[in-house]
Amino acid sequence: MQVFPTPAAAWPLLRQAPTVMPTPVTIPIEITFHLNLDLETATFYDLQREVRREARQALLRALRTALGEVEKALLAGPILCPACQAPMRSRGRTMRRIVTVFGSVALRRARYGCAPCGTVRRPLDEWIGLDEGTEVTAAVREQVLYLSADLPYERAADVLRHVAGIGISGRQIQRLLEAESEHIEAAIGQAEADGEAPLRRRFRRAGRDGATAGAARVLQLRKLKTSGLWDQYWAHRFRQEGGGRRG
Ligand SMILES: [Zn+2]
Repeated sequence: MQVFPTPAAAWPLLRQAPTVMPTPVTIPIEITFHLNLDLETATFYDLQREVRREARQALLRALRTALGEVEKALLAGPILCPACQAPMRSRGRTMRRIVTVFGSVALRRARYGCAPCGTVRRPLDEWIGLDEGTEVTAAVREQVLYLSADLPYERAADVLRHVAGIGISGRQIQRLLEAESEHIEAAIGQAEADGEAPLRRRFRRAGRDGATAGAARVLQLRKLKTSGLWDQYWAHRFRQEGGGRRG
């Protein structure tokens, strides 16, 4: 059964598809799981907790399956070297871990090499659009930073773990905000950190300059959240993560 149409030319390395054509796909996913309960001791709370835990695992499996199908479609045509325009050769698979809204997933994605010029491509990486060395997907960054606008990093990490089942540390959240800040500033401009004593106290261990910079980043995040531009900002960031492919 052919689930996917054959993809167009291998364009993912370009910032924009040469001809932006809709590529509709249908990926059938079946989600099933089993619950193991002892009705003598288990409560309705236990039942809900079990459903949530098993459902999350099933969603993660579904995501992995879907990514496998996406990669299959991406590899259906020849993978061309962007420099030589020659078909590249398969060079096995390498592992990469990414953090999604359903949890952490290890991807073994296909790698292609061009012998004459040494170019390497990983078509699935190009489609996902996540920079090399970045683990946390934009969908997770959005949720993490939404909370971090109002909560200290450690508290935000705690809420994420407790409510959303996303395992991330306060330190990791701080680094995410540092990385996101330039984009937020480009979108809404700088926020003035003066006169925010409680915020500066929160950052005092970072030293005077560090405290000011840290407080400024959180203020900027709050400004974005209260500006009414949050959804618009992230819609733009999600498209950027896709390498600009989705226009
Ligand atoms: Zn080449």
